[in-house]
Amino acid sequence: MKAIVFNAPGSYSVAERPPRPLSYGDVMVRVEAAGLCGTDFRINKGTAPAEFPVVLGHEFAGVIDEIGPGVRHFNIGDRVSVDPNIVNCAECEACRRGQPHLCDNMIALGVDIDGGFAQYCRVPVSQVYKLPGQMDIEEGAMVEPVSCCLHGIDLLGLRSGERVAIIGGGFIGLVLLQLCLEAGASRVILSDPSPAKLKMAMQLGATEAVGPERIHSLTQAEFEGGADAVIEAVGRTETVEQALKLPRKGGRVLLFGVAPQDALVNFSPYDVFSRELSIMGSFVNPFTFSRSIEVIASGRLKLKRLVTHHFSLDEIAAGLNPDPDMIKGMVLPQERSSSAVVG
Ligand SMILES: [Zn+2]
Ligand SMILES: [Zn+2]
Repeated sequence: MKAIVFNAPGSYSVAERPPRPLSYGDVMVRVEAAGLCGTDFRINKGTAPAEFPVVLGHEFAGVIDEIGPGVRHFNIGDRVSVDPNIVNCAECEACRRGQPHLCDNMIALGVDIDGGFAQYCRVPVSQVYKLPGQMDIEEGAMVEPVSCCLHGIDLLGLRSGERVAIIGGGFIGLVLLQLCLEAGASRVILSDPSPAKLKMAMQLGATEAVGPERIHSLTQAEFEGGADAVIEAVGRTETVEQALKLPRKGGRVLLFGVAPQDALVNFSPYDVFSRELSIMGSFVNPFTFSRSIEVIASGRLKLKRLVTHHFSLDEIAAGLNPDPDMIKGMVLPQERSSSAVVG
């Protein structure tokens, strides 16, 4: 099969190699669609960790092609989405506390072991979820990022009639926008530097979508003293600092964007104290994968229009250096392409 093998940050090639043989409890997934994500860009730049050499791609869906011993509830031909976050531990404190997504020993397909930027991927059956017949396979590849967004919305505890500010109009910001409206937010203001993304935000129901320089004054004016809930969906020092200035007294801030591991921000602890702010993080997707499939199957999330670019495996170099208006890039590993690209 064909796979993109990453040997180090910035060093990858299209390789021909056999898929790894199935062990007990594994299935072989023929990958039909795999989303490019900020995590892939960060691993490629060397600002996020991975276990090299590795096939990246942790947001993918496809069809079961082979069944390993011990698999009972899945069959060859099942269309599935893959939850990449594997917890097989039961001995660390987090697992024993009932928070397996914070496991010390978690490994992720497409980060620590081979993932979906390949024609086939060996996946433990615990990680596959059947897709409803009518669901588009590219939507199936977006179950994982949507499941992470659902966890964030759960933590934020959004209630009907609340007013939200979102910093960042990339794929994640635009999914969170839609989920906030689903959860009952009355008004959502979103900021991003890209006019194309602001236009998309308005089409998806944002009350206002503005450049980063305007979100502070607009939130203060429109929401009388600040937003009930603020979501940072960029992961940069400046945007995190800006997010901490947007909530009303007693408001909440969700830090969803993934910052570089060594980034530090300036904020006023007195402000957090005297305004009684809640600041929270959100990590991966504990028990939200099935709900994500349900939400997508309902048809109320507009996901297909967020897929702005498609790439074959041979075109991965272009996908890893996207133009700024790319919202979600989708790799189609079964697609044939003549131009071999090595980065
Ligand atoms: Zn991702
Ligand atoms: Zn554990």
